[in-house]
Amino acid sequence: MDLVFSNCTVLTNDRENVVLTECDVRVNDGVITELGRSNSRNQPQRLVDARDLLIMPGLINSHTHSPENFSKGRAESMTLGPWLDQIWPALDVLEPRQIYIAALLGAAEMLHTGTISVVDHFRQTPMNLAAVHAVAEGYRDSGMRAVIAVMLRDIPQFKGQLLPSVTDQIGIVEQAHLNCDTLKCSKVRIALGPSAPTRCTEKLLISARDLALRHGLYLHTHIDETTTDAAEARKQYGKSSVQHLANLDLLTPFLSLAHGVWLNSEDFELLAAAGSTVVHNPVSNMRLGSGIAPLTALLEHGVSVALGSDGAASNDGQDMFEALKAAVLLQRVAGVEAKHWITAKEALPL
Ligand SMILES: [Zn+2]
Repeated sequence: MDLVFSNCTVLTNDRENVVLTECDVRVNDGVITELGRSNSRNQPQRLVDARDLLIMPGLINSHTHSPENFSKGRAESMTLGPWLDQIWPALDVLEPRQIYIAALLGAAEMLHTGTISVVDHFRQTPMNLAAVHAVAEGYRDSGMRAVIAVMLRDIPQFKGQLLPSVTDQIGIVEQAHLNCDTLKCSKVRIALGPSAPTRCTEKLLISARDLALRHGLYLHTHIDETTTDAAEARKQYGKSSVQHLANLDLLTPFLSLAHGVWLNSEDFELLAAAGSTVVHNPVSNMRLGSGIAPLTALLEHGVSVALGSDGAASNDGQDMFEALKAAVLLQRVAGVEAKHWITAKEALPL
């Protein structure tokens, strides 16, 4: 299909933040082939008068959990600990068909609100290959780009919880990665998703690191979402979660870490030097009362930052424009001096 949007405003979101006005955008079979005042004599198959419309790159949601698309609005007044206990028992044991539908539901909301790429920190307990296939097929059929970070943990959430062995969990991720071609999931990538450093033994973290290196896979984890998480790391290792990951050679540009609400300035230095990315989830952090992530300080220290919605059960939606607005405004009630406030223009590239 040859399609032209005429007379629109284009937000390029490039390094110089160039904005083009009264611009024509020609799209041929899904690829932008012309940008600017159209000199082409070729009449498009379809012409859209986009005079009052804005065209911009699609947004990226760098942290969510698709099974939660079934649980919007639940456990509304709970902090993370009780919220996890309330929300996840029912979502941990979905059938593959339900997992597929949950991924499609979230994808539909994201595409409707301008998000075209997602990192799904995908949880089922116990993790199994059929579940990973089902979520991959959901994103495949939605047309979205997706990184499915298969959630791993070998320290139980509660007494008696049965978890697959480290070898089995790593084997599921490797097999899912190898099966992506067979499933025709060309826009889907499989990644390793340790739930959080404090929920994984060193053996699991090191095994995940080694598999990532062997196949060139991304790693994604939660980090210091609550004061309890940060204190637990200090108790377990005598150091911060980030320092623990650094000691295990896990801090690389291929690692992203969701939340980071309770990081300290030493963590900032380590993350900036390693090129790892912190994913800020402002709406979820407010919903669960987890705190305000030090977004401005992270950026000032040169840490790479991305934005996420987090799962729908701690956000009640998957709209990344909401996350953008909340990220900009939340810093302003966190004691940051006005001269350091980030603007919408600065937040958009996140
Ligand atoms: Zn999360």
